Amino acid sequence: MKIIPLKRLTTSLILLNLMFPLASFTNSLNVVPHKIQTIVIDAGHGGHDGSTQGKYSKEKDVALRIALLVGKTLEENLKDVKVIYTRKSDVFVPLYERIDVANKANADLFISIHCNSMPSTLKNRSAVRGVETLVAGFGRLGEQDVALRENASILLEKENAKDNYAGFDPKDPASVIMFSMMKNTFREQSIRLATLIQDEYVSTGRIDRGVKEQPLAVLQRAAMPAVLTEIGFISSPEEEDYLNSEAGQNEIANCLLKAVQAYKRIIEIE
Ligand SMILES: [Zn+2]
Repeated sequence: MKIIPLKRLTTSLILLNLMFPLASFTNSLNVVPHKIQTIVIDAGHGGHDGSTQGKYSKEKDVALRIALLVGKTLEENLKDVKVIYTRKSDVFVPLYERIDVANKANADLFISIHCNSMPSTLKNRSAVRGVETLVAGFGRLGEQDVALRENASILLEKENAKDNYAGFDPKDPASVIMFSMMKNTFREQSIRLATLIQDEYVSTGRIDRGVKEQPLAVLQRAAMPAVLTEIGFISSPEEEDYLNSEAGQNEIANCLLKAVQAYKRIIEIE
């Protein structure tokens, strides 16, 4: 029998204890979903969290209008799919509650809808345009400006609500273990969906800013493939008009429908 030093044994037990509740959880997650039955659509921000704004519209309102349209489009075209919204009106929903809605519903996909913005201090603020879709990840330094903005909502939550993120401190080794397990399980599928979304945007002539991995609080706990799509820059007058137009909103909803249809076809064949 191999003698394990006490200190190492204790460390192992702590690790095992830490990972045990996750073990059964991740085992069930390793099963690739063969049917996409439930999709959670998350309209970014809301209520006292208006986030970014353009000349005449706020991100929270644009995101909500498009989220509701995306949900309606998905339900009309995918008869076997149920859509759940994290919010259907102008209310504030904490970030962790948004992903909890998806986890509790055993959702197969989580799509969060947001508008991008350049800082008002930037000289060429209005010139920056394009679409990008983000998946959970640590990202590289200097590429985290979007994550900082999208995570800022946490600062608007009550003190006790902030505790819900305690397990997701990137500096904490325990959360790194947990996060890497979750990330590995869904990383590939999330990137696949994000890529399909970007492909659809590009096919309508949008400027491609790519698929990026970012440390986004709203996606960190997702027990399913999850993406956050930045549907355009509200700080660009041209894109603000597009995002507020019926044609633009229909085009975005159609892009997301086609991407989900393509993803569904791939996953359900595998
Ligand atoms: Zn946002």
